Amino acid sequence: MARRKIVAGNWKMNMTPSEAVKLCADLKELVKSDEVDVVYCVPAIDIVPVVEAVKGTNVEVGAENMYFEEKGAYTGEISASMLKDAGVKYVIIGHSERRDYFKEDDVLLNRKVKKAIEAGLTPILCCGETLEQREMGVTMDWIRLQIKSDLDGVTADQVKSMVIAYEPIWAIGTGKTATTEQAEEVCRGIRQCIAEVYDDATAEAVRIQYGGSVNAGNAAELFAQPDIDGGLVGGASLKAEFGKIVNYNK
Ligand code: PEP
Repeated sequence: MARRKIVAGNWKMNMTPSEAVKLCADLKELVKSDEVDVVYCVPAIDIVPVVEAVKGTNVEVGAENMYFEEKGAYTGEISASMLKDAGVKYVIIGHSERRDYFKEDDVLLNRKVKKAIEAGLTPILCCGETLEQREMGVTMDWIRLQIKSDLDGVTADQVKSMVIAYEPIWAIGTGKTATTEQAEEVCRGIRQCIAEVYDDATAEAVRIQYGGSVNAGNAAELFAQPDIDGGLVGGASLKAEFGKIVNYNK
């Protein structure tokens, strides 16, 4: 069965609650689609107003992070069940900005992935290499290590409904997109890794996005690749351009 494309915006640390509600209204008509799943991954404080603002539309809401513990003395953190109860469907786990600035490692991320799934959220698990790693020729070794560690103990059925986002770190927020060939090569490699660790059916089912300076000009070519099932979009998700990315094939 063909995989349904998924285009998710990662708003990062942008948009106050009132700006967020206005952005939802501005994008409402532009992001309509029967063919593509559309997700806004928003800052924690925007979740409640954005869930309300997108009610009755085709947009689902995602969080940008969560903690793996159920509840308790973890000041400043937000649990998976809090997200679920607020109406969140997806959660980004392991974005390179969190791995880098907040020192999140694969052991922690594995716990987050498992907790998200247990709570009924769909993880968007990010992976990707630095420019140095690409130049050293270890891109696929690195990404396989990330995928295998982050999915440790996750079942094939659980992986089937997950989303994995390949985001070369050197392409995030830099305006430098990976070439279509580079993006497809790694997304195909991730699918092969899933086939090895699990089985072909799981590899065929899991959705793999490309992320890194996706824009209205490059989305159609990227998303046409056989192993690229949509995109995780940073900068361009805050503008009307996001509607063009969602409707890349129109
Ligand atoms: C991201 O934040 O996940 C991302 C891909 O950002 P940008 O599209 O701005 O490169």
